[in-house]
Amino acid sequence: MVHLNYTNPWVSPYMEFQRLKHHPMVAELLEGGKRIAYGARAISEGGWQSIPKLTFPGGALLGCSAGLVNVPRIKGNHNAMLSGIEAAEAAAAAIAAGRAGDELVAYEAALRSGPVAKDLRRARNMKPLWAKFGMLASLGLGGFDMWVANLTGWNPLGTVKHGKNDAKATGVAGNYAPIDYPKPDGKLSFDRLTNVAFSATNHEESQPCHLQLADPEIPIAVNLPTYGEPAQRYCPAGVYEVLETAEGPKFQINFQNCVHCKTCDIKDPSENITWTTPQGGDGPNYPNM
Ligand code: SF4
Repeated sequence: MVHLNYTNPWVSPYMEFQRLKHHPMVAELLEGGKRIAYGARAISEGGWQSIPKLTFPGGALLGCSAGLVNVPRIKGNHNAMLSGIEAAEAAAAAIAAGRAGDELVAYEAALRSGPVAKDLRRARNMKPLWAKFGMLASLGLGGFDMWVANLTGWNPLGTVKHGKNDAKATGVAGNYAPIDYPKPDGKLSFDRLTNVAFSATNHEESQPCHLQLADPEIPIAVNLPTYGEPAQRYCPAGVYEVLETAEGPKFQINFQNCVHCKTCDIKDPSENITWTTPQGGDGPNYPNM
């Protein structure tokens, strides 16, 4: 996992992972193994303070879509299941009452007052402390706050607010040295494009691009000179490229490769990219993940 509030725009989360696999303690576990699948995903880890409004007419956000992961436990499937139960109960009650297409307000009320709320409220200061002061402060201060809350139900630090969003946390490229990542060896580490083939992602080519730019000029006019256009590095599928052409640099979006991790929607420093749903259920196919 790479926290997307990283500041150095030269960081490539993908290449950090490839490099990690060569650490002796990791490499000895992987030695002799076979690559069978590839995928990537952004985890909504803002916790209690970041849960959005959960319902809209005819639908609701559950599980990871609602950001119900408990960061210190690195676990969200318990809350995903609980939110599923609460949403199903609210939907069943709505159907029994002859309602359809309205908002399941009972689901949101149950989630915000039930076991999911209890679990997330206790751990609510871990992530903001981590983002502001680093891992050690989070483990120390945040751990103290969480364990007092576990024992008494009261958080001594109250509710710590999140600071900048992940896009705004990105620093200016000129303030950091570019990172020279080792070349993948094809045994433990692999280049992005051959890995993308193992995600079995598929998008019918003639459909409109599902990655939409609010302003198509921004990648070259703003992001490239200021941030070295980090989309080239934060995207784990190599979707975004800056091509050198006779007319100057050109921004290219290879949307067919997208593995739907949503990182671009979160991390683009200009907040210029919106991930939209592609047609017909196109996208990665993760049968074993
Ligand atoms: S284009 Fe965006 S959503 Fe698709 S793989 Fe790249 S970063 Fe993830």
